[in-house]
Amino acid sequence: MSSIKDGVIIILSSPSGAGKTTLVKKISKINNYIISISHTTRKPRTNEINGKDYYFVSKKEFNTLKRKKEFLENAKVFRNYYGSSKKFVFSNLKNGKNVIFDIDWQGTRQIKQKKLKYKLITFFILPPSRKILLERLYKRDLKDKLIVEERMKQFDKDILKWKSYDFVVINDKLNICYKQIMKLIKLKKSKVKKNYNHKLIENHIKLLKK
Ligand code: ADP
Ligand code: 5GP
Repeated sequence: MSSIKDGVIIILSSPSGAGKTTLVKKISKINNYIISISHTTRKPRTNEINGKDYYFVSKKEFNTLKRKKEFLENAKVFRNYYGSSKKFVFSNLKNGKNVIFDIDWQGTRQIKQKKLKYKLITFFILPPSRKILLERLYKRDLKDKLIVEERMKQFDKDILKWKSYDFVVINDKLNICYKQIMKLIKLKKSKVKKNYNHKLIENHIKLLKK
């Protein structure tokens, strides 16, 4: 049984470039919210710091951690491996911190299947349009055409996962999206049943598909 002082697990997933990392960082500025910093075999981007954005590890180190069952969940995304540290997550939840995850649908599914005693709130973030997503990917990935093309190719598959999340939000204006997420977290924490506008999201998904 979870105790009243336990923290909650909050997961943000999205197609690459929709803005979940930006949103997770913004939420983590609130007192009592902490990011689960993942391990990854991906190379750091120019502005990324080891131990802050990710723990950047070799494939060998990653496999050792996996073998030792140090990960709460792990997955291969694009060509790299990612995993969330079990110890970090549980010690923070026990201490009443809300732990926010920026992970993909595979990791979300693994955490859901574990049926942990902690409350779990899942969000799927959508971009306002394909055009804006492309612009965001170009901006972030330093105009690396290959990376952007790879991530856009994955986009059509990734958006199909929206149905298995508690809430789906559109990240157009950052502040509005952030406020919407915080409102939904509060609602779900206080057990009030309220869902997003399903029809609106379904129509938006149609617009995002080619
Ligand atoms: P993800 O983690 O989903 O792959 P990021 O958070 O890295 O996406 O965002 C991709 C890029 O888009 C970043 O350069 C980020 O600064 C920018 N971005 C995110 N949200 C918004 C927004 N609401 N408006 C404009 N730019 C945004
Ligand atoms: P990026 O390389 O752009 O930072 O992340 C690529 C994808 O990997 C994103 O969808 C991100 O949410 C996901 N990701 C990051 N860390 C983890 C993790 O620990 N586990 C899983 N399953 N996915 C992760």
